[in-house]
Parts: sequence; C-alpha cells; structure tokens
Amino acid sequence: MSRARRSAARTVVPDHRERVCRVFGESYDPEAWADWRWQLRHRLTRLDHLEAYLDLTDAERLGLSMGAERFAVSVTPHFAALMNPYDASCPIRRQVVPTADEFVVSTGDMEDPCGEDHASAVEGLVHRYPDRVLLLALDTCAAYCRYCTRSRLVSQGSLDPLPRRMDAILDYLRTHTEVRDVLLSGGDPLLMSEDRLDALLGSIRAIEHIEFVRIGSRVPSFLPQRITPALAAVLRRHRVWLSLHFSHPTELVPEVAAACDLLADAGIPLGSQTVLLRGINDDDVVLKQLFHGLLKLRVRPYYLYQADPVVGTAHLRTSIAKGIEIMGKLRGHTSGYAVPTYVVDAPGGGGKIPVQPETIVDRDGGTWQLKNWAGEVYSYIDPPEKG
Ligand SMILES: *Cc1c(COP(=O)(O)O)cnc(C)c1O
Repeated sequence: MSRARRSAARTVVPDHRERVCRVFGESYDPEAWADWRWQLRHRLTRLDHLEAYLDLTDAERLGLSMGAERFAVSVTPHFAALMNPYDASCPIRRQVVPTADEFVVSTGDMEDPCGEDHASAVEGLVHRYPDRVLLLALDTCAAYCRYCTRSRLVSQGSLDPLPRRMDAILDYLRTHTEVRDVLLSGGDPLLMSEDRLDALLGSIRAIEHIEFVRIGSRVPSFLPQRITPALAAVLRRHRVWLSLHFSHPTELVPEVAAACDLLADAGIPLGSQTVLLRGINDDDVVLKQLFHGLLKLRVRPYYLYQADPVVGTAHLRTSIAKGIEIMGKLRGHTSGYAVPTYVVDAPGGGGKIPVQPETIVDRDGGTWQLKNWAGEVYSYIDPPEKG
C-alpha cells in the first residue's frame, strides 16, 4: 500500500487540540477555538512552536531552522490539530511543515514557474488569457502550503498594500473592456475584513463589462472558523463563485463541512482545486475519497493540478504519467461530477493545459475509434458533409 493510501485508511481523524493549545501555555477552550481571530493569533510559525507539538525529524528540524527565511512557516491551530505528532509522513503535516528537501534545487525548478510576473499588466494583476484576469489581492495566507506556486510573493510582504494599487487596477479593468472575468486570489482574499472585501468586490462589480467574479481561497480548509454568516452575506451580495483548495480527505472535518454548508446555503457556487502531491494524495483511492467527500459538501472538483516546478518542491511532485494514470482510474469509474480536469500550468507562462488518458485510438476520415473508461474500443461515424 502506498504511503498516501495507508494514511487515508486511518479511520479516526487524529485531533490534538489540547496538545496544540499547550504549545501556547493555554488549555483547549471551544469558544476561543471557534474564533478565527484567536486561530490567527495562535498560529504555529516557529521551530519552538512545532517542536513543542511534534516529534520532529532531523530533516524537519533543519527545514524549520533555515527554511523560514525563504518562505514563511505558518500553521493554524485548526490545521495543526489534524497533524499526526508522531508520524512525519502524515499527509496533513507534509503540506505545511518544511523539510531540508526545500533546499534541493532540481532541473527545471523556477521561482515563478507560471511566468506570472511577466504577464503582469499592473502590479498584482496577471492578464494571461484574453477575457479574464487574476488579481492578487493580498500576499498573506492563513497558513503556507510548502508547494505554493507563489512562494516568491506570499509571506514576503512583496506586494504593495491593495488600497495603494487599487486605482491602477481599476483603471486597467475599466479600459480593458475585453475582460469579463476577474479571479481574486493571492494570498487569500478571505482574510480581508468583510468591509474591505465588500468595497473591493463592489468596485469591481461596478464595471459593466465584468460579468463573472470568483475568489480562490484555502480558508475553508485552513481556517473554516473564518466562514461566518457576515462573510457569506458579502459573497452572496456580489454574486461571487468560490474555488476552494483541498489536498486530502482528512481535511474534511465537521468544521469544514459546516463552513461549506454555510456557503452553499447562501447560494454561492463552490468548486475546488487540488494539487497532485507525492506521498500525500497521488493515489486514486485517496483522491476518490477526497472528491466524493467534496461532492457530499456540495463542492464540485474543478481542477487537479500537476504541481508547479517551484524551486525546492521536487520532493512533493509526481510525474505527469502518474497523474494520467490516476485520471484513468477516475473518469467513468465514478460520478462525472467527482472528476476534475487534470491540468499542467505550463512552465514559462503558457497557461493551463489539460492532460488526460488518450481516448482517440484511431481516425480514418470521419470514422473515429474511441476507447471508453473500461478500455473497450467503439466507433463513431461523423455525419456526411453537406455538399
Ligand atoms: C488559472 C488562471 C485563470 C483562470 O483560468 P480558468 O481556466 O478560467 O479557471 C486566469 N488567469 C490566470 C493567470 C490563471 O492562472
């Protein structure tokens, strides 16, 4: 059994709230725990925090003592409590605790693999596709994924604060009438106060040619306490779609289910994005468990990403062949709604390229030989061309 599958097979979700609170000399108080500001104030960000909670391996200790300079370490108590303190191969732990492997630079590694800095129209606005833009709202997140595609930006304080950039961004959006879709990401936009988010969404919504607004966020996984009725009301008012980010079925705990319910009940369409990660979720059984769990929460799996070749992340990446193999075990084998599109975000800035198992076996003019999910070949004959 693979490491990923073994950890998914654990039936009891390890929850170590008391142990996490003791890191800060406190004892578990359900009311404080449920307060997202308390969660943010009690993030585990330093070697001594994680040392007090986890049996650290030498590789983790080294990663924590040196790595934070390049890319900050931060884990919310909510997410920390899901980590196994005794097992460094824990799929939750490996997502957020650095190891010495982060110092290994591999062939093809890049600081900015998706070439976003080049495609930046104005600071914090990436205009790669004809009709849509990516707006980097903040440069901080609730916690930091070690495989982050934007580690060059987030946690570094490298973006000017949004209010200072806002005029240039709005000018750009107003004059580029071809932009009909704005994706807010970052950094995690759901860390903004309701008032600031309301104002930001309001000014984007006021632009007539922008018809579709969505937010990418890992807050529902890292900090589900942040999903309050007041926040859902702001998202609802501006008719926002949400793309959430989950890596492993262990993340789908009751607090996360409650957050997704709150959002879905407010009428906010929910999608999710997952990065394919070695030893964490590179297994069809684990991913099926995750995608089925998301459907139960009314979250539609949208993209499965091949991990971007960010400097120092080779230990977390799989081959593309692995991704294609997994997709072959999903499509047709389970609900179509549970199957995301597998994409490679082309290094160098080519955008997202879908990759899937070959289904066209042969083509003779208008006669196509197509392979189904079970590996059987069927023919389809095109209609005669009108002459
Ligand atoms: C992913 C992405 C988008 C949105 O792409 P969709 O396929 O529409 O989800 C837009 N801009 C950039 C720069 C992106 O990386």
